[in-house]
Amino acid sequence: MTARLIDGKAAAAAIRKRVAEHVLQFTARIGRPPGLATVLVGEDSASAVYVRSKNRATAEAGMASFAHNLPDTITEDELLQLVADLNTDERVDGILVQLPLPRQIDAGRIIATIEPSKDVDGFHAINAGRLAIGLDALVPCTPLGCLHLLKSELGDLAGLNAVVIGRSNIVGKPMALLLLGESATVTIAHSKTRDLPGVVRQADIVVAAVGRPEIVRGDWVKPGATVIDVGINRLPTDDGKGRLVGDVAFDEAVEIARAITPVPGGVGPMTIAMLMRNTLVAAHRRAGLSDPEGL
Ligand code: NDP
Repeated sequence: MTARLIDGKAAAAAIRKRVAEHVLQFTARIGRPPGLATVLVGEDSASAVYVRSKNRATAEAGMASFAHNLPDTITEDELLQLVADLNTDERVDGILVQLPLPRQIDAGRIIATIEPSKDVDGFHAINAGRLAIGLDALVPCTPLGCLHLLKSELGDLAGLNAVVIGRSNIVGKPMALLLLGESATVTIAHSKTRDLPGVVRQADIVVAAVGRPEIVRGDWVKPGATVIDVGINRLPTDDGKGRLVGDVAFDEAVEIARAITPVPGGVGPMTIAMLMRNTLVAAHRRAGLSDPEGL
């Protein structure tokens, strides 16, 4: 059997189109577009690429984009002041501080300062706690994107065995909570898990968020399982450009699974689409409107 490829690019494009339609309605009603402020500190080239594509997607959706690109010599106090200013800026519905931050800055302190209603990355403890107890929350974009792909592929997830590999606050933990919210039976695996292959073999749904190239082998995958590969790992190549691979040995797993996300073109594009979605949702909630439908 060869698995169906889950096309994250197409799913993300559909979401971004829907977001843009809602942005037009919001702007006509409220008199200003939803706004996203991005904060990039320093010269990290991967971070700069991510932030540029987030700013581009914001503009394409018809939203206002406020880009703050700061030198890595900035102090923690200066960054805290910028976040405080963005918290009270009425044009700004979402604040995204790109991680990692330089060493002299305590990222936890910066995230804790972001107004939770503008925390479109969903990293603030208030949003993490609200997700954990089943209240409306701004949910981290990557796991939200994974859930969207899973529901589009499988429909109802109730009762399915889901194994999430990885327990980071950004991907693994919120992913597990989202799946629990859908009444899946959820196992969270991590670096101390015994017999990881055996755990994964129980899963109808595998979400791999490890950061280890191709750690999940094809013979770990239960025949007919759905596999979501969050990992982005760059392997060296002779031409120096590097090759992107996921946390799943794709060529092996594609022969066993029912459906699988490719890397690139799977989860990656969904992350930005969900950032656009979260900014739109934050704008609606801040304006006292009900959540936009169909997102
Ligand atoms: P972290 O490094 O924060 O977490 C990795 C997790 O994997 C940890 O919980 C760790 O366990 C677990 N782990 C590490 N080694 C093993 C192992 N040998 N067996 C089982 N579990 C292991 O990474 P992130 O969650 O931030 O990201 C994970 C991957 O997803 C990365 O490749 C990252 O680049 C990618 N990513 C992709 C995004 C996208 O848009 N597509 C967005 C965000 C991340 P422990 O807790 O015990 O240390």
